[in-house]
Amino acid sequence: MKKNVLLAPGPTPVPPSALLDMALPIIHHREPEFKPIFDECRAGLKYLFQTEREVIILASSGTGAMEAAVTNFLRTGDKALFVNGGKFGERWGKIMKAYGVKPVEITVDWGKAVDPKAIEAALDADPEIRAVYFQASETSTAVRHPVKEIAAITGKRPDVICIADAITATGVFDLPMDEWGVDIVVTGSQKALMLPPGLGFIAWSAKAEGFMASANIPKFYFNLASEAKKQLEGQTAWTPAVSLIVGLKNVLAMIREEGLSNVHKRSARFAKATREAVKAMGLTLYAPESPSDACTAVNIPEGVDGGKVKKILRESYAVTVAGGQDQAKGKIVRIAHLGYVGTFDVITAISALEMALVDAGHKMQMGAGVAKAMEILREGA
Ligand SMILES: *Cc1c(COP(=O)(O)O)cnc(C)c1O
Repeated sequence: MKKNVLLAPGPTPVPPSALLDMALPIIHHREPEFKPIFDECRAGLKYLFQTEREVIILASSGTGAMEAAVTNFLRTGDKALFVNGGKFGERWGKIMKAYGVKPVEITVDWGKAVDPKAIEAALDADPEIRAVYFQASETSTAVRHPVKEIAAITGKRPDVICIADAITATGVFDLPMDEWGVDIVVTGSQKALMLPPGLGFIAWSAKAEGFMASANIPKFYFNLASEAKKQLEGQTAWTPAVSLIVGLKNVLAMIREEGLSNVHKRSARFAKATREAVKAMGLTLYAPESPSDACTAVNIPEGVDGGKVKKILRESYAVTVAGGQDQAKGKIVRIAHLGYVGTFDVITAISALEMALVDAGHKMQMGAGVAKAMEILREGA
């Protein structure tokens, strides 16, 4: 028997009460019992997104909502800017190409955040650009990008909207959509929302609604106008992921009960404890300047194989973290702090990492990281 601990930045652990709710007999989505559940989700999502606008629920993974954020707001042949500083940034460009949007790319070194000035300069240089797509939190590099600053830049331009992939930002750190003027926010169920994969979410501003009117990219399933029409009435255009929506009601109530700012504080504290613990172990961070509180990317010391560390964590200690992708493959491990995580998940992650590094041949004194984490995690400390 192994007691598994899931500490990857998605999918994340699901709270037992949500699991139990999702195990209830299925209800019919066109019968009266569904609407109150759906309406409660609608209200909870507005609270979570910090918006007065409607948040649309899609039956898809997060990428479906990303795709909808392209196809529903642009015209074939439009130019759109995207920030490519990791695997998810890269995905914006791929979606654009698939739908005949002309991508204009800003590349950012992995582990770094985009400089808002680069976005401003790119928009100044090409007035045909109609949208700026970026990640609020680039999960592959554990970087937080400057959402507020980017929204301020597009906010000054009536013909440009900004789109934040907030899949590991929503429910992790503050992102007041309406207040900051973020035109489109996208998220998914299997990250800070503590649900199994399968739901995508998207909300858009009145300004983006104007873009929607002229959008002509072919689409059928992810037609947000027809979806919004139905969802404002407490229904969905197609069969919804009924059980996931039942689970959604549960987790949204949990978030409300804790309070969104307390949820943010919890992730921030766990992220800080992890970062400081890693430094106390004599290791370095992959994204030291602008780290996301969603997950921490730890540089594996020279001469140690990161893939092996990840494997030891899993096979010897039953702890699942994420490794690095592409250029970061074998060089980092990523430890998550989002969603249904508690104080001792941090301790577990740090102690398991210390043990796995020693097992992988790294010479270090075990315990320094855990001691540091405990210091930061003590209530009131
Ligand atoms: C997880 C994630 C996605 C979505 O991926 P799916 O596998 O489609 O759910 C997109 N962007 C970011 C930043 C993510 O972390």
